[in-house]
Amino acid sequence: SSVLIEVNHLKKHFPVGKNKMLQAIDDVSFHIHRGETLGLVGESGCGKSTLGRTLIQLYEPDSGEIIFDGQKLNSNAGVTERREYTRKMQMIYQDPYSSLNARMTVMEIISEGLIVHRPGLLKEERRRRVIELLELVGLSPKHVNRYPHEFSGGQRQRIGIARALAVEPQFIVADEPIAALDVSIQAQIVNLLKQLQREKQLTYLFIAHDLSMVKYISDRIAVMYLGQLMELVHSEELYRRPLHPYTEALLSAIPIPDPRLELSRERIVLQGDVPNPITPPSGCRFHTRCPKVMDICSTVQPQFTEAAPYHYVRCHLYGSKEVVACPE
Ligand code: SF4
Ligand code: MG
Repeated sequence: SSVLIEVNHLKKHFPVGKNKMLQAIDDVSFHIHRGETLGLVGESGCGKSTLGRTLIQLYEPDSGEIIFDGQKLNSNAGVTERREYTRKMQMIYQDPYSSLNARMTVMEIISEGLIVHRPGLLKEERRRRVIELLELVGLSPKHVNRYPHEFSGGQRQRIGIARALAVEPQFIVADEPIAALDVSIQAQIVNLLKQLQREKQLTYLFIAHDLSMVKYISDRIAVMYLGQLMELVHSEELYRRPLHPYTEALLSAIPIPDPRLELSRERIVLQGDVPNPITPPSGCRFHTRCPKVMDICSTVQPQFTEAAPYHYVRCHLYGSKEVVACPE
C-alpha cells in the first residue's frame, strides 16, 4: 500500500485536577503516504505535539487506532515487536537547546539509539556510523567528541536530526523543528530535511504553529483546532481555496509572497482567545470565534467530511456526511 500510517478516530484525553479531562485529541482521522510530508498546523495548545507523540507511541491513545506499515499498533505488543516499530518512528524536537543532553558528547548522543537497536555493533563500527551521520547532516567528523554547548542552534538541530536518523527510521515527527532558530537558518534546516527525505525515502509529520514556512515542505497540510482536525488537503489547494473559516483566518495572518495568489485577502482577526480544552465549546469547537457561525453550529458537531475531491473539512457550511478516513 502507498499508505505508511493510517489513523482512525484517535482520542487522547489527560486527567487534570478532580474529575476533569483535557481533551487533547478528539476523533482525529487521517493517513500519510510513504515519502510524503504532512504538515500539521494550529495555535499552541491545540494538541499538535500530543498527536505527534501519540503517533510514535510516546503516549498511548484512549481509543481509535494507528496502523503503521500495515500493522495495527497496540500496547499489548511484545517487547521485541514494540522496539522494532518504535525504531521506525523517530522524533525531532522543537528546541535544539533543551533536547540534547548537555553532559553528553555528540558521539554519545547520536549513538544512544544504536546501542539499543543495534546491540551487535562493535564500538569502532558505531563510531564510523556516527561520523557518517554527522557528514550526512552537514557536520564534520571532528565534532564527534564535542558537547552541545559548543554548537550554534542550527548545528544542534543537525545533531538532533542525526540522532533521529541513526536507527534508520521510516517515519519522523518533526515538532516545530525550526521555530526556535534564526530566520536565516530556518531555510537551511528545511532544505536538509527535504534532501534527507529524498535520499532515505522518509515520511514526515511536520508540525508548525502557523502557515508561513510549512508550505515549503508539505505535500498536504492538516489544520488543527482544539484537539480536532478542521481541514486537510493538498498544500497548493489549501492556500488557493481554503474552505474552513479557521484556515481562512490563519491564512489571512501571513504575508503572501506569490502575487498570483493575492486574492485581496483581508486580515481576519478572530475574536477572543482559544477556549479551554478542558471545557471545549459544544457543537463546532470553533463556533465561539467563527465569523461565519450559524444557529446549528453551537449545538451540532460537524463531521470531518470530504467536501471536494481529497479535500476534507469539519464545518457545517459543507454538509456533514461522514467519510472513510483513508480512501485508496
Ligand atoms: Fe464556523 Fe459553523 Fe463551520 Fe464551525 S461549523 S467553522 S462555527 S460555520
Ligand atoms: Mg507543541
